[in-house]
Amino acid sequence: METEAKAICAEYGICVPKFDLARSELEASLQADKIGYPIVLKIVSPDIIHKSDAGGVLINLKNAAEVTSGYKKIIENAKKYKADAKIVGVLVQEMAPQATEVIVGAIKDPTFGQTLMFGLGGIFVEMLKDVNFRIAPITTEDAKQMITQLKAYPLLKGYRNTPLADIDALVEILCCTSRLVMDNPEIKELDLNPVMAYSKGAKVVDARIILE
Ligand code: ADP
Ligand code: MG
Repeated sequence: METEAKAICAEYGICVPKFDLARSELEASLQADKIGYPIVLKIVSPDIIHKSDAGGVLINLKNAAEVTSGYKKIIENAKKYKADAKIVGVLVQEMAPQATEVIVGAIKDPTFGQTLMFGLGGIFVEMLKDVNFRIAPITTEDAKQMITQLKAYPLLKGYRNTPLADIDALVEILCCTSRLVMDNPEIKELDLNPVMAYSKGAKVVDARIILE
């Protein structure tokens, strides 16, 4: 689940926004007050993998009232999406500023073992399959190549509306992810999607880990 996946990421030095797990509307609003606005709420359920498809993600909530009604809405949506879904609670998360979204992944290949993936978010991965793979463990140089050898790399160097991205911060996330999957061979699949790529730094706003 996202809460656990995020905790492991943080342990490996990967930057994640502040978060907490709420089990009631009141708890959610108190946690949001503590984290600071704007807030993102997300369903936490082992039966819901693609949270937005289930109406399970609300972004840019500006105050406690919006968080309270957002909590209700998310639970309602989840039940509509899958009546028997086990609902653990709602993730209350610091909202990260908008940025270029990239994806870091890992998959355990039956032949090559832990393999890392890097690409740009959205259509670049889904339609254009513009992604690069390397077998873990990777060096800093490997990580750099995974990024600079993308067809869409010029976008990360700043293009029209897309600001320059901090390549070193992305290299660092790739190297930390490499260590994470090498230390934990029971990980079958890891998905950091999206990673917000800023001009300074980068933040993982969604993390999913599937064990064998
Ligand atoms: P899922 O992939 O399960 O649908 P995500 O957690 O990736 O859910 O959320 C969907 C989208 O909402 C993300 O791709 C991102 O654009 C946005 N988002 C999610 N969390 C945050 C956050 N903390 N700050 C800013 N935007 C976010
Ligand atoms: Mg996601």
